[in-house]
Amino acid sequence: MGFRIIKYVNYIKDCLCSIVYDNDLKCALCRDITKDSYLCNLCKKRLKFCNEEFTIESYNYKFICNSVCYYSYSMLELILALKYKSDFKAGEEIANLMIVKIKEKDIPVDVITYVPSSHKALKSRGYNQSRFLAKNIGDKINKPVCSCLKKSKGTKDQIGLSGKDRWNNIKDSFYLKGINKIKNKNVLLVDDVITTGATAFYCAKTLSDSGAKEIFILTAAKSDV
Ligand SMILES: [Zn+2]
Repeated sequence: MGFRIIKYVNYIKDCLCSIVYDNDLKCALCRDITKDSYLCNLCKKRLKFCNEEFTIESYNYKFICNSVCYYSYSMLELILALKYKSDFKAGEEIANLMIVKIKEKDIPVDVITYVPSSHKALKSRGYNQSRFLAKNIGDKINKPVCSCLKKSKGTKDQIGLSGKDRWNNIKDSFYLKGINKIKNKNVLLVDDVITTGATAFYCAKTLSDSGAKEIFILTAAKSDV
């Protein structure tokens, strides 16, 4: 009798272990079994890394920007999964890759913030993917995350606008709440994708005008379109 109970307990334990650990052993993208990583080797190989640091300049402002990958293959799929399928495991994998970049480039971070969502996007999606990434990075590298950038109501959607129109549309769209949290600090500004750089530029400009010491833009992906 006692033997049967022990067997049953072991069976329950195995079931629980498979629930807890099984998830961790599957690739965030293809769900193939992977040993010790969120991405299997095949999906990892499909990451197109972006190694060049670049700057976004306008007026008298110049900001350093780094992107983990180009917006293609595995990174595109991870971002779409996070953004439109609430796949937070994919989000965690993106955050892990962003942390590798922070360490690789030795980016000095005092505080982390992120590009705010439009009210419309937040309402329909229920979360801001850039905030998720910032929080995940902050938790893992033990840095505070500040939700200080706000988007003004009434900003039109950037989708479908040409490069120049994007810059005009987004101008004066951001404001800051809680200056003390970023004043004289090195701020890491997180976003999922950078395209023309207009959004990141005006967010960084708002931080700079509010007294941030230096702003480092970090995105998961860089897109040319
Ligand atoms: Zn895979």
